[in-house]
Amino acid sequence: MIGVNSNEAATSNATAAVIEQMSTYDHEQVLFCQDQATGLKAIIAVHNTTLGPSLGGTRMWNYASEADALKDVLRLSRGMTYKSALAGLNLGGGKAVIIGDSRTQKSEALFRRFGKFVNSLGGKYITAEDVGITTKDMEYVALETKHVAGLPEYMGGSGDPSPVTAYGVYMGMKAAAKQRWGSDSLEGKKVAVQGVGHVGAYLVEHLVSEKAIVTITDIHQPSIQKLVEKFGVTAVAPDDIYDVDMDIYAPCALGATVNDETLERLNCTIICGAANNQLANESKHGQIVRERGILYAPDYLVNAGGIINCYWEVTGYNRDAALSQTEEIYNTTLEIFKRSADLGIPSYQAANELAEARIKAIGKVKLTY
Ligand code: NAD
Repeated sequence: MIGVNSNEAATSNATAAVIEQMSTYDHEQVLFCQDQATGLKAIIAVHNTTLGPSLGGTRMWNYASEADALKDVLRLSRGMTYKSALAGLNLGGGKAVIIGDSRTQKSEALFRRFGKFVNSLGGKYITAEDVGITTKDMEYVALETKHVAGLPEYMGGSGDPSPVTAYGVYMGMKAAAKQRWGSDSLEGKKVAVQGVGHVGAYLVEHLVSEKAIVTITDIHQPSIQKLVEKFGVTAVAPDDIYDVDMDIYAPCALGATVNDETLERLNCTIICGAANNQLANESKHGQIVRERGILYAPDYLVNAGGIINCYWEVTGYNRDAALSQTEEIYNTTLEIFKRSADLGIPSYQAANELAEARIKAIGKVKLTY
């Protein structure tokens, strides 16, 4: 009996902890999914649907614990709410994680079972690809639900979003140049691009075509080689990127690269790149960046091209409309810098406030008949 009671107490504590985490950022709904037959263990988090259905990718990752998976999905889904709000989309924020090894634990049945769970939310959550998930996996998901975006063109989707994401980062960078130097030309500006994968490579192409002086790095040598041969850009070793002579640092690989250590080394006046969560600690490093006179173009604003592309896919794909809405990132970036300067607050905070204001205002509009 003691065992039963202590089990009950543990379950009760765990449930309370989950609900507490959900309420920290005011999540609407979290769906825990498991299926013994396929080995599926997944969590779908719907953060906020004020502006529309929640949209965000599914990540497959071998999390150290279920608690880590929950933390990740809650954090990521909230980020999607802000990203879509700031991009002016009629979308809310959501995200899913599948707990498991993406190299060894995938199967058609697992993804189709996951698709059924997505479908059970009736369109409140629309999924897409994220880390560890391929288009092939999404094809299986799409057999069980129509609430999928980011599908390949041959399945009626919009294909790889990376060129659109890169275009948005480029727009954000031009806006930052305008704010900093009075002209949005990047000609002759020294840009250090960290990570030349899908987005980074397209970004380099834009920069080179505008005669910027580009230095790149990557941990994958063939990706570097390709760009060095194609564009004649300079390459450095991964850890040396923080020390190169640069005007603009463009992180396009991992998050948290703007931190205590790198801020001692980065000699730039603008930070603008595709990576998510660039500031290791948003409030601390956002403030330090501001105090050092570095213009930080908020990551979730400038990398919104991908979600904009997905939005147009689910509402009726129109490439020109997706690109033109992505181009708006230029104006929004300027608006955020202005707000940041006027109110004396870091740019990340200005971005967050603008996103929150839009959700609040449109939420009120939706209350009317
Ligand atoms: P990707 O995996 O194609 O490219 C990332 C590149 O970074 C790879 O070439 C990888 O080798 C390199 N890399 C990893 N660690 C590195 C390190 N320590 N130093 C240097 N290079 C390193 O990913 P992607 O689709 O190009 O996305 C890049 C970033 O942008 C990611 O943070 C992603 O979350 C974000 N993002 C991408 C999109 C999109 O449309 N693809 C949209 C929004 C945000």
